[in-house]
Amino acid sequence: MSNDIIRSGSCLCGGVQFRVTGEPLRVGLCHCKDCRKTSGSAYQAFAIWQRQAFESEGITNTYAERSFCPTCGSRLPSVGEDEVEVMIGSLDVAPTEGLEPSYELWVGRREHWLHPLPEARQFEHDRTVDDSATGDGEPEAGPEPHPESA
Ligand SMILES: [Zn+2]
Ligand SMILES: [Zn+2]
Repeated sequence: MSNDIIRSGSCLCGGVQFRVTGEPLRVGLCHCKDCRKTSGSAYQAFAIWQRQAFESEGITNTYAERSFCPTCGSRLPSVGEDEVEVMIGSLDVAPTEGLEPSYELWVGRREHWLHPLPEARQFEHDRTVDDSATGDGEPEAGPEPHPESA
């Protein structure tokens, strides 16, 4: 464990601090409407860690399983039963090292001035379970599925 990389993150006001240890399970982009709304941006870039790799301190609020700082409004990691979804932009080092998206979700919602990442798998909607080509056999138990709220 001692050699594992530790990445720290925080909200804009600094009221919430968190750390993730080791490499993420996977890194992705999502263009779905909910990710657009909650980020206020054209898409969201996130990385998924196992829940036990995650520690945080500070007070957060959660809406529709998406957490944020009640003081400054920054998006914060969404904690699921087994996995944690961390917005890449909430990490303290920019640009990040070694967090390259390997897939994109809801590509039909992608802005026309953005282009598909050449190496990334493209999904019309959420990531499908039979996507096990990378050896990622994790069940879909995390906060990652992004079914749009109607
Ligand atoms: Zn804050
Ligand atoms: Zn999404």
